[in-house]
Amino acid sequence: MDFAYSPKVQELRERVQAFMDAHVYPAEKVFHKQVEEGGRWKPTAVVEELKAKAKAEGLWNLFLPDSEKGFGLTNLEYAPLAEIMGTSGLGSEAFNCSAPDTGNMEVLVRYGNEEHKKQWLEPLLRGEIRSCFGMTEPGVASSDATNMQARAVREGDEWVINGRKWWTSGANDPRCKVMIFMGLTNPDAPRHAQHSMIVVPMDAPGVTVLRHLPVFGYDDAPHGHAEVLLENVRVPYENVLLGEGRGFEIAQGRLGPGRIHHCMRSIGAAERALRLMCERAMSRTAFGKPLGRLGANLDHIAESRIEINMARLLTLNAAHMMDTVGNKIASSEIAQIKVVAPNMALRVIDRAIQIHGGAGVSDDFPLAHMYAMQRTLRLADGPDEVHRAAIGKHELGKYVPKEALRGH
Ligand SMILES: Cc1cc2nc3c(=O)[nH]c(=O)nc-3n(C[C@H](O)[C@H](O)[C@H](O)COP(=O)(O)OP(=O)(O)OC[C@H]3O[C@@H](n4cnc5c(N)ncnc54)[C@H](O)[C@@H]3O)c2cc1C
Repeated sequence: MDFAYSPKVQELRERVQAFMDAHVYPAEKVFHKQVEEGGRWKPTAVVEELKAKAKAEGLWNLFLPDSEKGFGLTNLEYAPLAEIMGTSGLGSEAFNCSAPDTGNMEVLVRYGNEEHKKQWLEPLLRGEIRSCFGMTEPGVASSDATNMQARAVREGDEWVINGRKWWTSGANDPRCKVMIFMGLTNPDAPRHAQHSMIVVPMDAPGVTVLRHLPVFGYDDAPHGHAEVLLENVRVPYENVLLGEGRGFEIAQGRLGPGRIHHCMRSIGAAERALRLMCERAMSRTAFGKPLGRLGANLDHIAESRIEINMARLLTLNAAHMMDTVGNKIASSEIAQIKVVAPNMALRVIDRAIQIHGGAGVSDDFPLAHMYAMQRTLRLADGPDEVHRAAIGKHELGKYVPKEALRGH
């Protein structure tokens, strides 16, 4: 495996980094001010300006592999760019590469009909609207997605949808115009053929955003995470993607690349924390020495560098396998990095917080918010334990027949 950056990727890395330095990092404080001034749940002018600039520079939709609508990068080529974007909370949106839109766009590219593409995919690709993904439900343990109870029933040439979703990221944003809903359509079918993905316009009668759910007190406005009620929502039958009962088939494809994007960004977040750690370590003095020369702090810096580099190689390996043997065969590698990346980033950010003292947990530095964000990824991407179970079964599967592992 050769993970050296190709000249094309190297050039893009330099352009993305230059854009981050010139426009994105300086916009962070402005963004928070504008969110405050706009009453929190209004899109900000500063992000729209960033998007326009990135688009004008041709740094747009870099994420989409295997489609003429995207930039034509493989997962391996995209990984180092997503890493740079992940160094700021504004990075991926600036380049129209943010979750959950990326996953939803991939689904619409691969499974949407012409009408879906025209109405939803094209404006998403242009960055004019945003989208959300409604799978998790408050009433059932959603780490086992086969538990989902929200019901879509066919009536003539329509679906009638009823249910309650939560942690629906982005649903609070006024730009969010469409949900990819996953719910129960075929309760009598085998376990993994009972659920379907259905395109639901957010302005359909019966869709109500009930409340936003803060994360450790952060509202992540204007994007946010919402509880959404669907009451007798009617959408055309053709809004089912791929076909009835085929939601899990799509989920495998959607959540493969989408989830590894989070890992790439986690590595970027850890890099930023390490940089802040080093700057603080050498710019403050206690007991007559720079903080970085006291106690085990030098070790903490070294350990952080080692852990980041290990996680990056594991991510690149997973991306390489996705490109070469496909998401299915790469599923253990994808699960491995999903466990490693946020846990690694949390350790690095925690060390950076510690060396900053009280400032580390304040809003004067991005570390506290970064910690909260990374902590959610140990759940939002599917709990660590579920990924570990998949990795463990994959290993055992080398020695025992598959049937022996079913149900464990
Ligand atoms: C910030 C944030 C954003 C999110 N965004 C979205 C979104 O946009 N759309 C969406 O649909 N969902 C979203 N989610 C929801 C997320 O996917 C779920 O929280 C996750 O799948 C876990 O489901 P649950 O919360 O129902 O936990 P449960 O299923 O109740 O699980 C609780 C705990 O049980 C344990 N557990 C579960 N399975 C196992 C196992 N096999 N072995 C051992 N222990 C186990 C784990 O400790 C787990 O954390 C988001 C969540 C967060 C926090």
